[in-house]
Amino acid sequence: MSQQNGQGPGEDAGVFQMARQQFNAAADKLGLDDGMRAVLGSCKREFAVNFPVRMDTGDINVFSGYRVQHNVVRGPAKGGLRFHPDVTLDEVKALAMWMTWKCAITNIPYGGGKGGVTCNPKELSMGELERLTRRFATEISPLIGTASDIPAPDVNTDGQIMAWIMDTISMHAGYTDHGIVTGKPISVGGTLGRTEATGRGVMITAREAAKRLGIMLEGARVVVQGYGNVGYWGAYLLQQMGCKIIGASDSRGAIYAEQGLDTYKLLEHKAESGSVVGYEGSEGISDAELLALPCEVLIPAALEQSITRDNAEKIDAKIIVEGANGPTTPEADAILEDQNIMVIPDILANAGGVVVSYFEWVQDIQHLFWEKDDVDNQLESIMTRSFNSVIDASEEHDTSLRTAALLVAVDRVAEAFRMRGVYP
Ligand code: GLU
Repeated sequence: MSQQNGQGPGEDAGVFQMARQQFNAAADKLGLDDGMRAVLGSCKREFAVNFPVRMDTGDINVFSGYRVQHNVVRGPAKGGLRFHPDVTLDEVKALAMWMTWKCAITNIPYGGGKGGVTCNPKELSMGELERLTRRFATEISPLIGTASDIPAPDVNTDGQIMAWIMDTISMHAGYTDHGIVTGKPISVGGTLGRTEATGRGVMITAREAAKRLGIMLEGARVVVQGYGNVGYWGAYLLQQMGCKIIGASDSRGAIYAEQGLDTYKLLEHKAESGSVVGYEGSEGISDAELLALPCEVLIPAALEQSITRDNAEKIDAKIIVEGANGPTTPEADAILEDQNIMVIPDILANAGGVVVSYFEWVQDIQHLFWEKDDVDNQLESIMTRSFNSVIDASEEHDTSLRTAALLVAVDRVAEAFRMRGVYP
């Protein structure tokens, strides 16, 4: 195969470059040839749209959005849609690549995709959010589809937004197409257990890691950066297992409580006040102080690149469970490895969400719905199996868990590509 660098002309070295750097470390170990590196190191489809939305004032605003399919050799593209002011094509490409590896490591029959709209949903009314969502769904409709590319929730998107997408595509089709999107409310073809699925996967991987290190979960101190869907459910389920949640944060600030926080009451406080800050019995601290709190388990569940060469040395945790996608830079990874901190990489730690999305899609296609226990038990077995395969690979190749996870994932995608061959 001939060589190609896989990066388009004029592209900056942002978060996609970081994803490629991680991929290259695994590609080196696997001895992938240059052609295979070029294929797997680039995104198959990058779709950018600029579209108008009528605001409540009557004005028209133009928003930019993206849908990227990194790789689809193992199945339809799968991955969330995020609504955030910092969304860029570069970020969406990185997130799409990580989805490819996430689906491969859990061995679910999907490729990787991701999308997003550059906007601040906190400044939009419900009506504006609905019109933006429906128009964006229409704009990306040439790409998405039950058999081709299935979106899901991500940062600042939820079941309601998924229901609007499903409805919009169904209106165009003339029939109800449940499988077009996952993370839907139960009333419109969602599955039991999807809302908490990513947090449940975080809990399972944290539990398995603690077991390996001989750490008791009873009384173990947990710190959560980012108290959104993933952070809350991860913290809640770990608290159920006896852990003490001593710190939490969101985009507005961080808090510390030596005696431990009640995760549900903290969620209620955040819903009422808009932030975890000010929770009764807690002390306000900075995000830097939060990350430096001595603890057994640190869960970064916010955005990319929150653990960097500037703060990694101060981290005083035994285990880091990456609830977010891409929270740790490669420079920080090296520092954490020197400090002997066990890092459960994002593509494994937060894979619970896409695994249950897969269950939802299977149920939608079969029009046959499962009991909650079936969902939880299948998730439990996929997560523990995936965790063990990464541990085995790290022992066999003497690498970090991140590189080990990528070795397992990239090898599966490369094998599928080899079997299918190059068309024509
Ligand atoms: N957005 C989630 C993720 O980053 C879930 C994706 C999905 O369910 O398709 O894994």
